[in-house]
Amino acid sequence: MKLVIGHFYPDLLNLYGDRGNVLALYRRASLRGIDVEIRSISVGDEINEDDIDICFFGGGQDSEQNIMAKDLIEEKGSIIKNMIENGKVFLCICGGYQMLGQYYREHDGSMLKCLGALPHYTEGKKERFINDTVYEFTLPSGEVTKVVGFENHSGRTYLGEGEKPFMKVITGHGNNGEDGYEGAVYKNTFCTYSHGSFLPKNPLITDMLIEIAMRNRYGNDYVLPPLDVSVENEARDQAFDYIQNGKEQMI
Ligand code: GLN
Repeated sequence: MKLVIGHFYPDLLNLYGDRGNVLALYRRASLRGIDVEIRSISVGDEINEDDIDICFFGGGQDSEQNIMAKDLIEEKGSIIKNMIENGKVFLCICGGYQMLGQYYREHDGSMLKCLGALPHYTEGKKERFINDTVYEFTLPSGEVTKVVGFENHSGRTYLGEGEKPFMKVITGHGNNGEDGYEGAVYKNTFCTYSHGSFLPKNPLITDMLIEIAMRNRYGNDYVLPPLDVSVENEARDQAFDYIQNGKEQMI
């Protein structure tokens, strides 16, 4: 069985170890005996909807977002919009999250037109939100889990009709520091402000994404084989203790 992860603009959108999310997907899928390929896709590269199972976009600086915007909108835009509508799995972090929305107005007022695949929009402010974060996520099974992450953004994102918040903010700012929510979900597209340690420290979310992608390719009967989560959860719990109680982390 095979799984292809498309890492979009890895040379431009890769802040705070965002590649760690791709490696977590790779690792936890490989350990199930799935043959995983990571494909780098940047400016000028062609894409084919059927070739990619999980699309990953990392975060970027405003300048890097300005460089990739034209290629995203004019060259890859209609295929990416189709993929989202057809339920392909997307994970988009920070700048990547912003780029799927309507626009990103930078803190100096310059307007960056985004893909417009999702209805959210982003307003940049001079004061950045920089935090270790704790969120709460409700899994498809109904189980509620604590999620740890790291945010660093000037943008405040406001969701639109049809998309739902991904998680609830416990510590940190999330989408805009006002409404208590973090990220966005539409069909199988998941967006968050959490950077590179997001999937490595939250294995239940990693597994959820892999299972959806495998079901898309091999049918709804596919069940991801169980796999130990104790090391990842230990890292998650230590980060949680550090963020909530200031306790030093060992791993
Ligand atoms: N440039 C965007 C902002 O500051 C995104 C930053 C990021 O991806 N960390 O809001």
